[in-house]
Amino acid sequence: MAAEVAIDITKTYPGRPPIHAAIRYALDQATSLVLFGPSGSGKTTVLRSIAGLEWPERGTIRFISRTWLDTSARVRVSPQQRRIGYMPQDYALFPNYTVAGNIGYGLAELSPVERTKRVAEMLTLFQLEGLESAKPRELSGGQQQRVALARAVAPRPQLLLLDEPLSALDAPTRAQVRGDLRHVLTQLALPSIIVTHDWTEALTFGDVIAVMGTGNVLHVGSPQDVFSRPKNAEVAQIVGVETVVEGSVSEQRNGLATVRVNGTTLRGLGTDPVGAPVLVCIRAEDVVLEQAGSGMTSARNHLVGTVTAVTPQGVMVQVTIDCGFPLAALVTRGALEELALRVGSPVTAAMKAGAVHLISR
Ligand code: ADP
Ligand code: MG
Repeated sequence: MAAEVAIDITKTYPGRPPIHAAIRYALDQATSLVLFGPSGSGKTTVLRSIAGLEWPERGTIRFISRTWLDTSARVRVSPQQRRIGYMPQDYALFPNYTVAGNIGYGLAELSPVERTKRVAEMLTLFQLEGLESAKPRELSGGQQQRVALARAVAPRPQLLLLDEPLSALDAPTRAQVRGDLRHVLTQLALPSIIVTHDWTEALTFGDVIAVMGTGNVLHVGSPQDVFSRPKNAEVAQIVGVETVVEGSVSEQRNGLATVRVNGTTLRGLGTDPVGAPVLVCIRAEDVVLEQAGSGMTSARNHLVGTVTAVTPQGVMVQVTIDCGFPLAALVTRGALEELALRVGSPVTAAMKAGAVHLISR
């Protein structure tokens, strides 16, 4: 049997609607699970339940061959025995401990010599050398985040849980740290579950993404599955990005990247080097449709294709176009009629380079 994570729990806070989560995935296909959804949907509650910091009134949590929770069999494994690294949203660093003290906090089982060695290893891995005697308040936001991560990783947990790992950072730092964190997670090859409400982060970190609506897991699947083929309208609305396809950078000029996607060429903003695999993400509302062959707008990208589906969405209509890959566009009913679009119609899809988001993978 493949190594698997299987969660099926219900947690109810007094006077609140219950929070349900049913998620199951194979670890050989997915090192990182992302719990993605709006604020208040129950992500932190699910994460804390996996950590053993909340006790669901019903359900099971299994990690590989171990059962951590089974309410019907009265199995309740303690947080310590689960061997989890947990990083809360606000980091919860100990203000009176030094960086080294914070990182070494969970290493009581090691001998003093081994502990010092492990802390040094973490200082190197998280680029914190020279800061071992500093107190958290003396550090930048990015450094505090790395100390919190180092503390979670230091005891060599079997599962790493990160709650909104980038949300406490200011916007300019966030993009940088996002790339660094992805790199560290890949290096560690440690199973992780990451909570976020940001789709860029979900696509950066998730091998599998579980989309949460209010108190419920609505869709579990690969990034492309969840974003490009959402199970229902609620999932589509939560993810908000209709086209996600794999591509590879073929040219790079000062942050304007040319990307090849299944034979089609696109220009997007991104600093990824030539040859880098990327996820190409386009919102349907950023795609403008034109008469086939017109090329009227000043947009960077003009893709020629054929309409494969026309799906009404309230006052708007989602048009799916095959232009080497399936591309979704959101247009008004008026525009649809003006262009006389139906399944099989040739059409040109235009979008600015700024609407083509590239995410490194
Ligand atoms: P998210 O992390 O997705 O923002 P949370 O898991 O923090 O969501 O919260 C989900 C719901 O549960 C919210 O309505 C929140 O107010 C409620 N909730 C969370 N923690 C508690 C608690 N300790 N006591 C009572 N209600 C809580
Ligand atoms: Mg939360």
